[in-house]
Amino acid sequence: MEIFMIWDQHMHTHFSGDSQAAPESMLSAAAEKNLPGVCFTDHFDYDYPKEPDLFMLDFSRSLRETERLREIFRGRLSVCWGVELGLQPHIADINREVAAQYPFDFIIGSSHVVHGADPYYGSFFEGRSEEEACREYFEAVLENLGTDVDFDVYGHLDYIVRYGPGKNRFYSYKKYADLLDEILRTLICRGKGIEVNTGGYRSGLGQPNPADFVLTRYRQLGGEIVTVGSDAHAPEHVAWEFDTAAALLLSCGFTHHTVFCQRKPHFLPL
Ligand SMILES: [Zn+2]
Ligand SMILES: [Zn+2]
Repeated sequence: MEIFMIWDQHMHTHFSGDSQAAPESMLSAAAEKNLPGVCFTDHFDYDYPKEPDLFMLDFSRSLRETERLREIFRGRLSVCWGVELGLQPHIADINREVAAQYPFDFIIGSSHVVHGADPYYGSFFEGRSEEEACREYFEAVLENLGTDVDFDVYGHLDYIVRYGPGKNRFYSYKKYADLLDEILRTLICRGKGIEVNTGGYRSGLGQPNPADFVLTRYRQLGGEIVTVGSDAHAPEHVAWEFDTAAALLLSCGFTHHTVFCQRKPHFLPL
């Protein structure tokens, strides 16, 4: 039996438009894997293109259900309540209000929509090189960091490499060092962390998002806040490749991972 000491702080349930999972089934999966704790991070992606209602979140119902399940799992599994905010510069005010309005334990800020399009769809890459598309993605991350939206970690920082025609075959730090360095320095300067999203392993990258070289650089620049999340949308994906991720974090120079409760970071040894 594997014993995980890492919290899974990125998972979705039927409160997200792209998941059918019952929240209880996610917690049962986590308890079976002996996780110490989890955080629900359902989507709130305001102004999502073409399907504006797809990632709207019923905050009150999600919170009530989390509180109910927290009691059921008490003593077996810690259950936190968070959100994955889809960041776009023009909706920074709305996201900031959401962050202030609800008693989240943890907020992931993520770039899904870049200048009106999600790289999840192949059309994002049409008519230009993969490198141009990636540069636009990282530039959009910087635009979001230029707003004062409130979050704890930036989610799956190089999400775009999951979906490009070459995936991560031609991806290197050097290629985007100007943008990635500025992103990482800005995050560190603002006291924000990044997450290790093991969905990258599920996407066949052989790497999490972001890749090891981004994690290493974040550490070199003085970054210390890393959370780990499976981005599970179904119970079988909970704690996906967490043993691999823990070993990777150690090799990148980290000794701890971070758990957020009531928006406060706690550093737990890997
Ligand atoms: Zn995401
Ligand atoms: Zn997610």
